Amino acid sequence: MWPRSEEATPRWRSTTLGGTSRVRSELVKVSGRLEGVRWLADIVDAATRSRMMAGISGRNTRPELLTRRYLHARGFRFRLHPGTLPGRPDLVLPKYRAAIFVNGCFWHAHTGCKYFKLPSSRPDFWATKLESNRERDARNLASLEALGWRVAVVWECGVRAGDASFEELCRWLPSGEPNAVIPASPSSALGPIEG
Ligand SMILES: [Zn+2]
Repeated sequence: MWPRSEEATPRWRSTTLGGTSRVRSELVKVSGRLEGVRWLADIVDAATRSRMMAGISGRNTRPELLTRRYLHARGFRFRLHPGTLPGRPDLVLPKYRAAIFVNGCFWHAHTGCKYFKLPSSRPDFWATKLESNRERDARNLASLEALGWRVAVVWECGVRAGDASFEELCRWLPSGEPNAVIPASPSSALGPIEG
């Protein structure tokens, strides 16, 4: 049943002036956030925007949680985001002297990957920003290597492709092999690059 009209009246309208201005200031804050979302809407398509929003925190992303869950189920034990190591790897397994980064394909500019496409608006801005992300990743990897760590980069597209990537990670961890990139090639895991 539809509410009667007086029930549909927003509650804040009947509050005191103080209450109303509090509401108003909340609305200003909300509309500021909406402006931010709208700005994002102007420059990238919906799929890219969704990935960007998901990747804003940078930690505890869904691909990262899936990786943790898989390794844990396979008996591996790890530490998360240790602040003492360069780049704060997503997972660290001291037993194997191994560090793992689970990288979003957009934010870490996974070249040749169908999940990485430069936004069509302000491409120079994004190219600069994502290139600096990539350079930072490379610096962190080199620093970890210098400290004697083996490093695996697990790409978001590998996680999306299914368990094969996790199986490769489980094989690599105790292998003693040097750095790994999983999947080794984005196109082989996903087929032809789109668009
Ligand atoms: Zn990728």
